[in-house]
Amino acid sequence: MKPFPRILAAISLVIVFGAFASDQTPTVDWGTVAKIREEGLQRSQVMDIAGYIVDVLGARLTNSEDMKRAQAWAKGKMGELGLENVVIEPFMDYGVTWDNDYFSLHMLEPDYQPMTGFPLSHTPGTQGRIACPAVVAELQTKADLAKFKGKLKGAAVLASPPLAINQASLAAGVARLTDEDLKKLQENVVPPAPRATPPPPNPDLLKPEEKIAFFKAEGAVAVLQCDGGRPGVVVGFARPGTKDDKWSREKSLESLPIVAVTPEHYNRMYRILKRGLAVKIEVEIRNRIGEKAEKAANVVGEIPGTDLKDEVVMLGAHFDSWHASPNASDDAAGCAVALEAARILKAIGAKPRRTIRVALWGGEEQGLYGSQEYVRKHFGNPKEPKNPPTPDYEKFSAYFNQDYGAGQFRGIYLQGNEHARRLFAAWMEPFRDFGLTAISIQSVGSTDHVAFDAAGLPGFQFIQDRIAGTAGHTNLDFLDTLAAEDLMKNAVVEAAFAYQAAMADERVPRKTLK
Ligand SMILES: [Zn+2]
Repeated sequence: MKPFPRILAAISLVIVFGAFASDQTPTVDWGTVAKIREEGLQRSQVMDIAGYIVDVLGARLTNSEDMKRAQAWAKGKMGELGLENVVIEPFMDYGVTWDNDYFSLHMLEPDYQPMTGFPLSHTPGTQGRIACPAVVAELQTKADLAKFKGKLKGAAVLASPPLAINQASLAAGVARLTDEDLKKLQENVVPPAPRATPPPPNPDLLKPEEKIAFFKAEGAVAVLQCDGGRPGVVVGFARPGTKDDKWSREKSLESLPIVAVTPEHYNRMYRILKRGLAVKIEVEIRNRIGEKAEKAANVVGEIPGTDLKDEVVMLGAHFDSWHASPNASDDAAGCAVALEAARILKAIGAKPRRTIRVALWGGEEQGLYGSQEYVRKHFGNPKEPKNPPTPDYEKFSAYFNQDYGAGQFRGIYLQGNEHARRLFAAWMEPFRDFGLTAISIQSVGSTDHVAFDAAGLPGFQFIQDRIAGTAGHTNLDFLDTLAAEDLMKNAVVEAAFAYQAAMADERVPRKTLK
């Protein structure tokens, strides 16, 4: 071979590799990252924001008066932080508002015991203060109904079996992710096959709403139940059937008061009754039920972009919670992190090319309704002929979400999107000292990034440490469950990811839409 072509070959090789390298190595704006770190780690307001949401605003059940008050605050807070185009944006015909104003539960006999619990949402209150016998009535199948006919009048029904309490769960605490855990997450490279469809339910089994209707028809005055199994923790959600009847006022009023009780107190009553001894309780519940169905809402605000302002990067978390506690870790923490990320970017005077939009969703706990309806309205979905992609679909870059408790970010799930790996690897580089190192190809579910992912839009959830005290969906999720340093780091990472995504030469690439 002649020397000349060899040199030419070498030169062209350099050119090819050069071009390849610049494509493959996204730039990191270390100067801006340094400013974000300084603002977020030395002048953080994330705990002040989280504290206001948790301590002052409290629980935020979708479409409650509590939630409306909280959303009005969030709108004001976004404005105060300097976000623009701030709106409380309605998203679907939901149902009536429901708020608990008062709750009291006691065992009166055979021994006095104040009891811990709370009413399920979208249940009626009691007719004043009621003292009544408690009766065990565990129903499984339609054949069980005859056994309890004529035996429940004027009684409070213990409708669930006693619960085995996992006493070790408190002592063991919750370990942070170890290097070995992170390694496993990264090496688990084959996404799982879709789950098989479950078999149809046994038609003889009673549905929860059928049980309640039977108790009501039999003249019971309240239903007591127990779920969960951690010491001192009360778990309870909504009246069965609420999604089907769209949180209807009539259905709520014609149901029975249903109370979730702490396992220790529930088990005590249950054991006494099983001895054949009487238990007498006292219960009083006052709930406020709205008169007419209303739309639920998201709260959205943005830092408008500059030359690429029609293109959008989004950050968010669900603002709604279950109603038994302020749900600090689920997901006041994620909302505080998104708001603090926006605050940091405004504080350092960031001028992103793309628009950075913060969304605090409603309706997540009932089924990701807020984010799904938002995606449908603003971006569309190529798989839904009735909601074809809007002009904004192509201009969307990525959505980043925090909702796996309040622990710090240790990496990110790619959601099956290999194309995003090299960008995220570059953007994580400045945060190795935070322990933010892992990229997992796995897809994860159960929260608002899924709404984007399902429409073929890049939506991501971070890999998070599980820290002690994360007790979402319970009566025990207060500010004390949050660790300030974790949330400070998360806000810094979210701000940096949002900024880099808003400044990058390209939008976050997409995976093939299945
Ligand atoms: Zn959540």
